[in-house]
Amino acid sequence: MIKHQYDVLIVGAGGAGLRAALEIPEGFSCAVLSKVSPTRSHTGAAQGGVGAALGNEEEDSWEWHMFDTVKGSDYLGDQDAIEIMTKDAIRAVIELEHMGMPFSRTPEGKIAQRRFGGHTRPENPNDPDSKRVAVKRSCYSADRTGHVMLHTLYENCLKQKVQFFSEYFVTDLIMSAGQRLDSSRSSGQGNVCVGLVALDIATSEVHVFHAKAVMLATGGYGRIFRITSNAHVGTGDGFAFVYNNGLPLEDMEFVQFHPTGLWKLGILISEAARGEGGILLNNKGERFMERYAPTVKDLAPRDMVSRAILTEIREGRGFKGSDGTYYVQLDVTHLPKEVIDDKLPEITGFARTYLGVEPTKEPIPVQPTAHYAMGGIPTTVDGEVIKDKKSTKVPGLYAAGEAACVSVHGGNRLGTNSLLDIIVFGRRGGKAIAKFIKDTDFAPLPNDAAERTVSTIDRIMNSKGKEKVGALRMELQEKMMEKVGIFRNEKDLKEMTSEIKSLRERYQEVSIDDKGKVFNTDLMEAIELGNLIDTAEPIIYGALVRQESRGAHSREDFPNRDDKNWLKHTLIYKTDGAPKVDYKPVSITRFQPKERKY
Ligand SMILES: Cc1cc2nc3c(=O)[nH]c(=O)nc-3n(C[C@H](O)[C@H](O)[C@H](O)COP(=O)(O)OP(=O)(O)OC[C@H]3O[C@@H](n4cnc5c(N)ncnc54)[C@H](O)[C@@H]3O)c2cc1C
Repeated sequence: MIKHQYDVLIVGAGGAGLRAALEIPEGFSCAVLSKVSPTRSHTGAAQGGVGAALGNEEEDSWEWHMFDTVKGSDYLGDQDAIEIMTKDAIRAVIELEHMGMPFSRTPEGKIAQRRFGGHTRPENPNDPDSKRVAVKRSCYSADRTGHVMLHTLYENCLKQKVQFFSEYFVTDLIMSAGQRLDSSRSSGQGNVCVGLVALDIATSEVHVFHAKAVMLATGGYGRIFRITSNAHVGTGDGFAFVYNNGLPLEDMEFVQFHPTGLWKLGILISEAARGEGGILLNNKGERFMERYAPTVKDLAPRDMVSRAILTEIREGRGFKGSDGTYYVQLDVTHLPKEVIDDKLPEITGFARTYLGVEPTKEPIPVQPTAHYAMGGIPTTVDGEVIKDKKSTKVPGLYAAGEAACVSVHGGNRLGTNSLLDIIVFGRRGGKAIAKFIKDTDFAPLPNDAAERTVSTIDRIMNSKGKEKVGALRMELQEKMMEKVGIFRNEKDLKEMTSEIKSLRERYQEVSIDDKGKVFNTDLMEAIELGNLIDTAEPIIYGALVRQESRGAHSREDFPNRDDKNWLKHTLIYKTDGAPKVDYKPVSITRFQPKERKY
């Protein structure tokens, strides 16, 4: 076993982790670990843009951005955090420009901006109560915004001599006090985070990393679902680490389905396609969003558009594909060629490559795709992980980005607000760590730090069990899609609580074919499957207990939002039996909850 010591460890080389790393001052050591090469992190797949009320193309204000984010969240977002994010957005985007990020430009050379779902301004800027119309707020680099953002941050990290452990797969946190977790993955009671355990994927060697502070910036869990826009690495590892260490996860029932994934594949066709003028059509050729959101139409927030698509399909107005599954059409054929070539080259290329569809001549078949985790590891606005409704901090443990729940997205995230979240709260988390490590010494490392990882690896490598990783994962993904997808009900969710228990039992019987040590991806996928199952559990239980419909959580048996009983965050803790549920209040500062209409 190889041991390392760093002041700071950051798990994840996406935008959140890299932005945090840039805040660690000279004189302190910082390592970033990533299970893929840093620039292959999912941030690099982001297309549409990063939201900030720069007002470069139309009058805009951070307060309008704040209002849209609160309304988009279906009033579940914490308004203190949303205020911080939308105010800081302007500085954060200009800072990226100064770091070297190549944004698309307006003819005068300013950062170009475009429309995106749910981002609005009052039609009459002097009358805040006037009708709201779509506003150009998304700052973009063609449809490769995340790619250039990730590369810019990575180059700045190299300049600052941040150390990278590339293709290191983190398997566990090391908590210094309290009961350790046993190999059956039942919950423990850690107090202080003092490091982590990782597997060098190239050699299968186990490494123990000792640190003063650890940040989880591990991204999302899209791979829990059959159809997803997320990269293969989006297996929810960070959520599982926290959950398995007896710490809660917040608002996990809020899973964003993006309305326009490529049919059957889930690969994302960015909202930018609709921001630039694309429209959705049903099998009658109707622009059906006119019925669901009469003012903003195709630019309604994602939860609404995804439900509208599914409703059209359920009521017989979808297109039936060759394999019997259904889709609707995204039509960009009426857009000028230069808009497609200059602003949407990547995504129209996806339609050509993966479906053989020529988007300039025919509509693109699309269906909703699991896209984003609104919930996650609860943190303060400075990225400090908290463990209860009183916001008690877990010393040494931080989280940022999609893995974290600050909560700025509440029940539904607006497009462009995640790239914003990662740069604003990645930086704040990094600053908080920089302060913490100055006044903190290394806490002792427990002797059994790597025990659980070693025993899990032994079990999987030596197992002769009959369960196979691919088949079990597929079963989980199909069932989550079917029963914990866009529309939910008590019967399906109750069934899923037994399903997940049985999947976890069967997981103990998983065996793999590759018994070697070099790049054993079978082993890694087997461990990831454990994380997928652990992360699915709080999603299912969160969805079961929340008896209302809000944002992306839509209960057929409780179709209305219920502020009296449910204007609160859920916290779910792992136990030996059914998870424990607790609640945390929502911060409401400026905007009182109102009916959400567009
Ligand atoms: C196709 C697509 C398009 C999108 N477009 C937009 C957009 O236009 N605008 C917008 O605002 N948002 C967009 N989003 C959402 C946004 O890109 C993500 O939410 C955000 O980039 C997440 O950043 P992150 O830093 O939290 O994590 P990620 O970028 O996902 O990075 C996670 C990191 O964690 C590492 N990691 C995970 N588990 C482990 C482990 N066990 N051990 C070691 N390393 C680990 C990974 O290797 C990776 O480096 C899009 C998302 C997708 C999928």
